[in-house]
Amino acid sequence: MSNTDFVLAVEDLTVSFDGFKAIDKLTLYVDRGELRVIIGPNGAGKTTLLDLICGKTRASSGSIKFKNQEMSGLQEHRIVRAGIGRKFQTPSIYENLSVFKNLEVSYPKGRSVFGALAFTCDDEVRARIEDVVRDIGLADQLNAEAGLLSHGQKQWLEIGMLLMQDPELLMLDEPIAGMSVRERELTAELLQRIARNRSLIVIEHDMEFVKRIAHKVTVMHQGKILAEGSMDKVQNDPRVIDVYLGH
Ligand code: ADP
Ligand code: MG
Repeated sequence: MSNTDFVLAVEDLTVSFDGFKAIDKLTLYVDRGELRVIIGPNGAGKTTLLDLICGKTRASSGSIKFKNQEMSGLQEHRIVRAGIGRKFQTPSIYENLSVFKNLEVSYPKGRSVFGALAFTCDDEVRARIEDVVRDIGLADQLNAEAGLLSHGQKQWLEIGMLLMQDPELLMLDEPIAGMSVRERELTAELLQRIARNRSLIVIEHDMEFVKRIAHKVTVMHQGKILAEGSMDKVQNDPRVIDVYLGH
């Protein structure tokens, strides 16, 4: 297929689990600098789509191009190195390390936690940590033990750990689940801030939140795209109301 300006071009993607198509000939394009939100009922295939893009699950057929490079079939670490970061639903931070250390060990030079801890913190790493910690709103908590942070702060720290790798495309699966109203507001601001110089794909259910952050919304249903466009457009689409928003 021809080259495109899209950061991500997913074409005819299909994955079957014992004959059941969790993703069914799905085609999706994401622009550079775009903040895309994916919504849809439980079981629609949203998480599976992210699993396919980040290489956790292998596609049955179809193509996933990141900056015109085929990602489908590559190992997860190769996809990370290409510039795709992915946050899972449960945060995986090092609870007994400080915020600073959590960010330091996430800097791409360290191959293992061990290697990264032994690795001396040069100016480059320190500068990156300072940038990231400002983005995630934890500048005052640099020396705090990660385990003592609030639920929301832990989520932001994990986003920060992904930002240490400076991904061009960052994917977040239900990032505000379990957050307070205030934490949700701060997360909306955080995502808008980090989308200024990278692309984001966010899966979310909270429609107020979606409205605040989305450049464009993709509605998934039964492994396919049901509707796509502005929040206004999809919200008023009778098919979307029928399978998702009406409930
Ligand atoms: P969503 O995130 O939209 O709620 P999922 O992507 O988690 O949906 O799941 C889509 C469908 O695929 C569900 O029916 C789920 O049970 C199924 N599924 C996901 N992963 C697997 C797997 N590894 N093996 C079998 N079925 C799976
Ligand atoms: Mg899911």
